[in-house]
Amino acid sequence: MPTSLPETETMLLYIEGRIGKKVAEIKKEVEEYKKNFASVVSSSDRLMTYLYMKNVLGIEMPIIPSQTEEMQNIADVLKSAAQSKINTSGYLLRMWDFKTKKDSSPCKGMAIGDRTGMTEVMAFFKERVKQVEESGIKEGDFVLCQNMSVSEYKGKKNLTFGSGSQIAKAKEISFKLEEVATKVSSLKNGASALIQVTVLNSDEHPYFGCPDCLKKIPDVKEGQKAKCPSEKCGHEVIATKLAFVRYLATDGDNDLTLSVAPSRNGNSVKKMSTGKIYNVYGRYKEKEKRGSEFSVDWAKPVAGFEEETGTTTSKSTVKASGDMIKSKIPVLLKSWKGMTEKKLIETCTKLMECSEEQITAALKALMKEGKIYYENDMYHVAKPLVDKKEE
Ligand SMILES: [Zn+2]
Repeated sequence: MPTSLPETETMLLYIEGRIGKKVAEIKKEVEEYKKNFASVVSSSDRLMTYLYMKNVLGIEMPIIPSQTEEMQNIADVLKSAAQSKINTSGYLLRMWDFKTKKDSSPCKGMAIGDRTGMTEVMAFFKERVKQVEESGIKEGDFVLCQNMSVSEYKGKKNLTFGSGSQIAKAKEISFKLEEVATKVSSLKNGASALIQVTVLNSDEHPYFGCPDCLKKIPDVKEGQKAKCPSEKCGHEVIATKLAFVRYLATDGDNDLTLSVAPSRNGNSVKKMSTGKIYNVYGRYKEKEKRGSEFSVDWAKPVAGFEEETGTTTSKSTVKASGDMIKSKIPVLLKSWKGMTEKKLIETCTKLMECSEEQITAALKALMKEGKIYYENDMYHVAKPLVDKKEE
């Protein structure tokens, strides 16, 4: 079985890039380091370089498992009688945090799709979640899933990330993301899917609402203080401009209505332009009366149809102020039902031009003001205060 260790040269160049020492110099140091080990171990330059890098220099290099073990496609995995040692690969379509119980620590779910189907990978324990986070995989990456086991969660067969499981971005991509896409005609009610569609028109329904629960507040202007009309929320908030957006889209054979919820609009779903092709991930819902809809989780233009950058777009070029970050964070926490600090930083930096320091400062301020709280490794929006009636 070949090793997953990176090539010696690759590691040496990686170290050189990190600490600025020349390759020849590092090689000498590795030779010195070798003397601490018996020959059976020290005879491998590759292993010695790895150990020196990790244990002496403290440099972590992402390990990408070698792709030699037999890989199964997702359809076969789901049909197979085998319940363990499953290896598969595909695109990471979505990653989310969830809890099995209210007070448990956050678990991680990942939707993986290939040309034959889709499955979900679940990581239930803190240590496993940490492993997934440290792998650095992102939505849209082509990933290898190794040594997983099959289980049933909420009546659905999926994969469990257990001890000995690995997930990592693959070195080689076996097929394009587009090949995972489902035709509009084969979408199934209630199922999530990736589709590739062209936007024909858009219809935006803007309103002023509560930044926490996104409920509409009647008779207010943007920026005004108002009482949120939601029973659950009910506290004083700053009226924020929000919008439901619906797009008419087609895959060439069938039309489909894409609906973007206010919580996603402008976040994971940037404004889509007519005449461009997008990879869109979401859930299909058949509705008898109002026509079927595809509720969008994320959308990305396909290569060649990226949005123009610079002059016309405003969002990404605006430097975020501390106040802007402070107002965005509760909205995000509310719509995601709590987020880890890492995920929050990742999302905020995607949304606005801001630094990690600005975000942690905003978090501190919000905590101090009692607007958010931290529990089980996640930040949450604090429950509204019912006292302090100013009349
Ligand atoms: Zn509200």
